Amino acid sequence: MGEKKKKIIKTIKVDVDKCNGCRACELACSAFHAAPKYSSNNPARSRIRVIHEPLKDIYVPVYAGEYAKAECMGRDKYVIDGKEYDECSFCRASCPSRDLFKEPDSGLPLKCDMCQDDPDLKEPLCVQWCLNDALTYEEREEEVEEEVKQEDVEIGVESMIDKYGLEKVMETVARMSVSKKG
Ligand code: SF4
Ligand code: SF4
Repeated sequence: MGEKKKKIIKTIKVDVDKCNGCRACELACSAFHAAPKYSSNNPARSRIRVIHEPLKDIYVPVYAGEYAKAECMGRDKYVIDGKEYDECSFCRASCPSRDLFKEPDSGLPLKCDMCQDDPDLKEPLCVQWCLNDALTYEEREEEVEEEVKQEDVEIGVESMIDKYGLEKVMETVARMSVSKKG
């Protein structure tokens, strides 16, 4: 059993009925995570994606969740207002079965980090830019067991190892560090 400690739980509440599919959240998120920050925007790099069905006026914002190295054994299929969506449309995982929530150039997994910054933002960028109030930010304090948090870089390296194997990744890092030093 790990140590108990106080933790701030950050939540973004999504009111699907208020979303009009403007996709400002996607632009804001990709700009915030660009390097350098705000130097570009590209929805394909966003950690929130809006699933569209304009003819039925259905827009569902979905946040990037955990990296999954393998496809899951079952599939989800949603039917909303008579429209049947592709399998896995609303899943949050960055997984091998689809391109969603993968950095388009490198293929590395993307995950919502609640706009972690120093100092902390008042509210995540997607919430600030959602002018329809479809996204609402809430914080609450809870007592939880201490967990070891994986950083973005660790998740990225893990996915590279899954894809290319440990030996290849180690070899590449060793070669690159020699050429950077030189
Ligand atoms: S900014 Fe708000 S209204 Fe626009 S697509 Fe995103 S969630 Fe929907
Ligand atoms: S909270 Fe920040 S990181 Fe997460 S989807 Fe919104 S803008 Fe992107």
